[in-house]
Amino acid sequence: ITREEPNYFGAGPAYLPTEVLQQAAQDLVNYHGANLGIGEISHRDKRAINVVDETKQKFIELYNIPDTHEVLFLQGGGHTGFSSIATNLLANFAKRTGKKGKGAYAVTGSWSAKAVEEAQRLGVDVEVLTNSKEVFGSYTDIQPFSEWKKPNPEETAYVYYCDNETVHGVEFPFIPQFDGIEVAADMSSNILSKQIDISKFGLIFAGAQKNVGLAGVTIYIIKKTLIEQLPEAELRELGIPVTPIAFHYPTAIKQNSLHNTLPIFTVQILNLVLAKLIKDGSLPEQEKRNDRKSSQLYQILDKHADFYNLPVAKGVRSEMNIVFTMKSPELEAKFLKEAEQANLTGLKGHRSVGGLRASLYNAITEKSATLLAEFVDKFATENK
Ligand code: PLP
Repeated sequence: ITREEPNYFGAGPAYLPTEVLQQAAQDLVNYHGANLGIGEISHRDKRAINVVDETKQKFIELYNIPDTHEVLFLQGGGHTGFSSIATNLLANFAKRTGKKGKGAYAVTGSWSAKAVEEAQRLGVDVEVLTNSKEVFGSYTDIQPFSEWKKPNPEETAYVYYCDNETVHGVEFPFIPQFDGIEVAADMSSNILSKQIDISKFGLIFAGAQKNVGLAGVTIYIIKKTLIEQLPEAELRELGIPVTPIAFHYPTAIKQNSLHNTLPIFTVQILNLVLAKLIKDGSLPEQEKRNDRKSSQLYQILDKHADFYNLPVAKGVRSEMNIVFTMKSPELEAKFLKEAEQANLTGLKGHRSVGGLRASLYNAITEKSATLLAEFVDKFATENK
């Protein structure tokens, strides 16, 4: 099975390396000569368990995950992260303190705003530490950390933020840290894009379908001290919502992510993506490639600042999702049409914000990124 190599900059689900998909296609039909595909083998079978273990091991290797943290996989995506974090971490705080804690949130774009909405739907008391829209009028910058509201560690179960806001193209240049409160981060659109110090996080979660795989699986990296929970009857008494069993972290960890049927084929894709990442120099090299890809494009956009508008403040520009607009919707439509003719696709901005967005996830090659930068340059020159 083959295809002409696409230059696809869609935000998610996103492009995956063709060689990975080709290997996955083989594994889908006949896994290591089993005469069965990996998606057909029981999730209790040794071969399926190996896929889970290998993938976990690769995360540990790539991020240098210390012994203080666990890696687990659950069905779902970003939204199931929004809800499961809230209920699991509240139940852990209750175990540690006997109280129903608050969830403290940094709202820096539409995904963290949605995480707040979901927590509130579940009955979490939410405290907002910073809200970019209120401070700047739009999600185009991040308030300096010194100006955020400071949560009370006696009352706060966790602080939540979204490390890369996919829709608005805003990425954190720092990791918010608090005395006595663990930080939970949504890294759905920048997981494994750069090196990070895992010890600074209580929890990281990511839907797989943007930077590392296909939709269907969420990756969690969780500090062991955040796992234990109060029994359900006591949670009910405190008014803390009980977590559905399929998203209950202690159960998932006890069962090696296999309490219920994990989509093993989807995990196998993750496994193959991670193997390629390791082969290609692991995170130090990936980080350099991502730096080069995004700075090349930002440089061209900045060069034509009289033609392209970059709404996001320089210090918080995303390396993964590069958002820009032009002076009229007609010009943007012309850009999209001509880009498509040049085999550059997936560049339309999110429906809620319009404009253009180029997602330069890990799998996007430097060659594709250069083709896009050259097109962006040429289009400005021809249409000024
Ligand atoms: N968080 C971030 C940063 C995202 O980009 C997305 C989806 O685009 C989500 C959460 C929601 O993910 P899902 O559609 O898998 O629920």
